[in-house]
Amino acid sequence: MLQFEDIDTLTIAPGRMPASGNIPLGGAIGAADLGFSATHELPRAQELPRAEQGSARRIRVEDKRIINGNTDVNQLVPFKYKWAWEKYLSSCANHWMPQEVNMSRDIALWKEPGGLTEDERRVVTRNLGFFVTADSLAANNIVLGTYRHITAPECRQYLLRQAFEEAIHTHAYQYIVESLGLDEGEVFNAYHEIASIRDKDEFLVPFIDTLTDPSFRTGTPEADQKLLKSLIVFACIMEGLFFYVGFAQILALGRQNKMTGAAEQYQYILRDESMHCNFGIDLINQIKMENPHLWTPEFRSEIATLMQRGVELEYRYAEDTMPRGVLGLNAPMFKEYLRFVANRRCQQIGLDMLYPGANNPFPWMSEMVDLKKEKNFFETRVIEYQTGGALNWD
Ligand code: FE
Repeated sequence: MLQFEDIDTLTIAPGRMPASGNIPLGGAIGAADLGFSATHELPRAQELPRAEQGSARRIRVEDKRIINGNTDVNQLVPFKYKWAWEKYLSSCANHWMPQEVNMSRDIALWKEPGGLTEDERRVVTRNLGFFVTADSLAANNIVLGTYRHITAPECRQYLLRQAFEEAIHTHAYQYIVESLGLDEGEVFNAYHEIASIRDKDEFLVPFIDTLTDPSFRTGTPEADQKLLKSLIVFACIMEGLFFYVGFAQILALGRQNKMTGAAEQYQYILRDESMHCNFGIDLINQIKMENPHLWTPEFRSEIATLMQRGVELEYRYAEDTMPRGVLGLNAPMFKEYLRFVANRRCQQIGLDMLYPGANNPFPWMSEMVDLKKEKNFFETRVIEYQTGGALNWD
């Protein structure tokens, strides 16, 4: 039987391991990437003198910390970060699977000559070209990076759920690619071949690499700022900005009664991603509260610069996917939209707005995020379903 001690000495066959963040651009992966090198390994109590083991080690809420905590990460309760647990429960209640969505109308429309314009087809293929690998990057970032640096078990529990949702999203994009009979190699390799997609991912990779680097440890102000920066880049720029041109495009197709199956999948994904973004923001703000010394003027200005760069990159992606107006959308409308979204992200983490006066040209997107209000926009079925785990047995 495999012992924990064996993990560090495992020989990993090339090509058998999940990629870390830097794999798309080349690079090796070590056993430590499995996460077992984390500082918070199994029973820390065993390291204590025998007399201190047992009840003396019971968890006190006031001792728990999001980062650099010293409490046992394997004991979920007593809860301190109830917002994280609530988000875990909500995410589980919103569980869905890609095969539940009927794709037959999409398939018929895609195959029909003239069913979609060339510009609409370009939107769909470029869109999938970004998303088919984006959620794998997000999953790597959680599983191989973020998870081991977070010492609050409630937050780890949410991250485990989030990681599974990233897998479901990758599944959903693959399911659309397969349903439409697209060239898999072309779509899945787009993050190497299409400059506007590659540029977004190359922007992200250094921040993923920070967290997945086996030698990276928190515990100094510099390292903790690096962690915080990576968390902000992922929640506020990747999940909170880089997804939004793509979501708006496919949902705009759905609003015109085109590609309604794909649009329904994206609607579920948008709901999940909105939760990922909000969890990330709560996590960031809690770390700031517990570690105010990290939030220096220099750090804030660095984040503002990164956010501006994110807006530029996403705008270039908008231009590339929509060289002409399509679906009543055009790239300049997205400039305004991205500025509006970036302002919101800045405010959510306590930064000044970068683009005062920016308005939301797509108010219908806000309705899409909050699905509790109404039936599925595309009228395929009621989507506010709750899974068995959320049923009330009273
Ligand atoms: Fe996500």
